[in-house]
Amino acid sequence: MYICDNVNVNEKGNLTFAGQDTLELAAKYGTPLYIMDEEKIRFNCNIYKNAFKKYFGDNALPLFASKAASFKRLYEIMKDEKMGIDVVSSGEIYTALKAGFSLENAYFHSNNKTDKDIEFAIENKIGYFVVDNIEELKRINYEAEKQGITQKVLLRITPGIDPHTFEAISTGKVDSKFGSAIETGQAEKITEEALKMSFVDLSGFHCHIGSQIFETEPFYKAVAVMLDFIGSIKTKLGFTAKQLNLGGGYGVRYTENDPVFDIDGSIKNVAQFIKEKSAEIGIEVPKILMEPGRSIVGNAGMTLYTAGTVKIIPGFKSYVSIDGGMTDNPRYALYKSAYTVINASKADKTADFNCSVVGRCCESGDIIQENIMLPQTGRGDIIAVLTTGAYNYSMASNYNRIGKPPVVMLNKGANYIAVKGETLEDIVRNDI
Ligand SMILES: *Cc1c(COP(=O)(O)O)cnc(C)c1O
Repeated sequence: MYICDNVNVNEKGNLTFAGQDTLELAAKYGTPLYIMDEEKIRFNCNIYKNAFKKYFGDNALPLFASKAASFKRLYEIMKDEKMGIDVVSSGEIYTALKAGFSLENAYFHSNNKTDKDIEFAIENKIGYFVVDNIEELKRINYEAEKQGITQKVLLRITPGIDPHTFEAISTGKVDSKFGSAIETGQAEKITEEALKMSFVDLSGFHCHIGSQIFETEPFYKAVAVMLDFIGSIKTKLGFTAKQLNLGGGYGVRYTENDPVFDIDGSIKNVAQFIKEKSAEIGIEVPKILMEPGRSIVGNAGMTLYTAGTVKIIPGFKSYVSIDGGMTDNPRYALYKSAYTVINASKADKTADFNCSVVGRCCESGDIIQENIMLPQTGRGDIIAVLTTGAYNYSMASNYNRIGKPPVVMLNKGANYIAVKGETLEDIVRNDI
């Protein structure tokens, strides 16, 4: 009945997540509350791990794009699941280190790594940099020399593909702040530069075409462009890429309008295509990497709120205000992202009340979802927003001096705090 199999309703009419009563969780930990289904995270990792093993063999590795959800417990789970990771800042690197994650299979992204980031990452033995541009490459070479090492790198290439998703999160087109474009000749130029440098070791190439993708077609296009590029680099510069990282991007179901998508089947087809295309070009199949973020943690998360003011404006709209909002989930404010919202206290009741669910910040744009149907909702009802495991906690802010909610993990009937909620003291801890 719901968009994901870990969401259900119990005999009391309460919404459950990972088999646990959301009202009991809200009562135990308070709201707003992020809850995460640990088994679902591991299950999602295994979709990728199994598919990679089946279709690529041993020469492949899925990486968790940790910007989707970054805190110590998640890196522990990724370590346990033998996933690689992708990180985008010193903060994510530090969190991974604190979780005991060895950085051998960590890939450092970002379109603007600072000198400090570069120094910090090399000091901490980052496995790979995914280098965005020539200036950065020079700085990495300089820092590697200074620290007396040779640094492995991939180069981020812009393949010029629009995966037909939302503009602000489609990043593989030529006009992008990310990477070096093939079309402009900059991709070849940066490859040439990398091969000349003494303290960087070029392992291969990376591309990332976008997010929330439910088709295999854009990946075929990306693979074709990237393998052609690898082939032409081999011919022109005599360099054979050992790795090809295809980025992240598979979608998750936010609402019933999103399709059920077979990631395993899609990877199978991509693998087949890579093998055929590599043979055609006359190169060995490189080690294949992918960096799923959303599809690892998205449907493993839910946010619980308590309804406060319910404002019915006769002849206009009705508003249900919750005790969180854009501070814990800025995605509607940023992208008008769709979400499924449920009154968890009345999950068995008919949804016949048209309303907008809004946050508590002093911003009209602080909206979780507009124009949705809930059952008749009143102050004190628990409101659940589904599929919030990706890009919610990791994008949370302290706007209006609102503390970030705790993250509670659910596992086989048990639950535990992975990240404490911020207290009022936490709010002022850096104020002098
Ligand atoms: C955001 C991002 C990802 C993860 O994307 P998802 O859509 O969450 O799978 C992977 N790689 C790069 C470079 C990214 O920017």
